[in-house]
Amino acid sequence: MKNIFVIAPIVFSLFCFQEIIHVSSSSPLLHGNQVHEESAGGRHLKQEQEHANEVHCSRERSRVAWKIIEEYLMPFLERENYQLSSKCRLHPDNDIFRDQEEHKIHIDINEWRCGYCKKSFRAEKFLDQHFDNRHYNLLNVSHSKCLADLCGALHCDAMMNSQSSKTKCNPAAAARNRHLCESLADSCFPISDGPSASRLHELFLHQFCDSHTCSGKQKPFSRGGKKQGSLFYLAAGALTLVLLPVFYLFVYLVQRDMNGQTQELRRISKVGRKSKPS
Ligand SMILES: [Zn+2]
Repeated sequence: MKNIFVIAPIVFSLFCFQEIIHVSSSSPLLHGNQVHEESAGGRHLKQEQEHANEVHCSRERSRVAWKIIEEYLMPFLERENYQLSSKCRLHPDNDIFRDQEEHKIHIDINEWRCGYCKKSFRAEKFLDQHFDNRHYNLLNVSHSKCLADLCGALHCDAMMNSQSSKTKCNPAAAARNRHLCESLADSCFPISDGPSASRLHELFLHQFCDSHTCSGKQKPFSRGGKKQGSLFYLAAGALTLVLLPVFYLFVYLVQRDMNGQTQELRRISKVGRKSKPS
């Protein structure tokens, strides 16, 4: 019973930190040191070595775009119970890498497994290379379904280089991205589709499009996203770390107190036994 009190907090704090590590390792912010060609379209120019003729779409940037959609748009769609039409370019079917990305099995920090053939890799980038080399036939390249092409509208650069200094704002590029952004709002949330589509249309403009100006007044993702989960684990982990010494001090004091009492009881019983025969 005593062991449970000692072990439980340790297990809980370990769990919290594992969650933090998991969240941060899957975060695209970690890939921020990889240099990408800055372009409104988001197409890759150098990489995608072997199958360059077939795929002209950056997996890296598509992944960031998907992460942004998942974090800053999906929670609002769920709240409205709204289904994206497949005509909308944000629909999962319009991301050529979606199927492969969903066949990534993240077992440990240093272990990634291919969901198609079960081969293991030390890092995600090696699994990416494996997909490019071994499973490129599974990519649906029949239509233009490059999610990275929407990066300009979705602020992938802001997401990837969150710490670095800001590049100078280009008014023409900002206008282009705003136009792309507004066309996404129109095609994904047609106002004529009813009240929830109208609400999401307005939300999309606030969340993604309004900040495409050089005034710097509006920040992207102004309506927030579902980051609260990782923040909760971080707070819980920190709180546990702070409370752990207090807890052990308490256990120590209680035990010392109990030991003192039992010793006193023994002394009393000894004295009692000694005094009986006389
Ligand atoms: Zn494989």
